[in-house]
Amino acid sequence: MVDGEPLPDDNAFDEHIIGLLDEAERIIPAITFERQNNGEAGRIHYLATGPKVTYDPSANLASGEADAKPFRTVALLHEVMHVTCDRQYVKPAWAAADLYGRNFHIPIALTTNDEIGQSLRTQQDIVDTNYERAAALLSRDSSKVIGKRMRAYINERFVYGRGMPDVHYDTVLFELLVYMAMNKAQETPTFKYLEKLSTEAAERRTDKPPRVAIVVGV
Ligand SMILES: [Zn+2]
Repeated sequence: MVDGEPLPDDNAFDEHIIGLLDEAERIIPAITFERQNNGEAGRIHYLATGPKVTYDPSANLASGEADAKPFRTVALLHEVMHVTCDRQYVKPAWAAADLYGRNFHIPIALTTNDEIGQSLRTQQDIVDTNYERAAALLSRDSSKVIGKRMRAYINERFVYGRGMPDVHYDTVLFELLVYMAMNKAQETPTFKYLEKLSTEAAERRTDKPPRVAIVVGV
């Protein structure tokens, strides 16, 4: 038992989030879940036998700024999105073993590690710019529903995402959108911009042919 907050009915969410939850539902049967007592709400392990997600049903965000039950729910959705990203984003087969969980397409024609590094850095900078805009927007967003704790949580997750934007983007956006929607913050400018970013990412990971990340205006 995960001991997270149950997700509300679909009618509490808009079409984009419902689409993400459907995407999560489709991939969940491919994942093994295992309880641990390590204080981590969720962690993905890419094993030769398939993806495994470990979780601790007593975990909370280290800073304590998130509400524990909804946080545990969205932390697991975050991990599930890692698996979706790993499956949807393409990468050159010869380098795939070292590129698990990346949330960008890496052109499959690339032939050297330097080229791959360059592609990752370029796209990382782009999503970092998007994160930067989101953080600036949040600091200007005086919506009452974004209380002190929710603001601290969102900011903390931005910092987390920006630490490794090549693996933490689609995941963090999904987590934040569901958390904010569960706390009725969908009408805020911050939510709307995060949804724009998440929509761009969702289109990118499913569109063919693969395309690179783009900067998204507020
Ligand atoms: Zn993650």
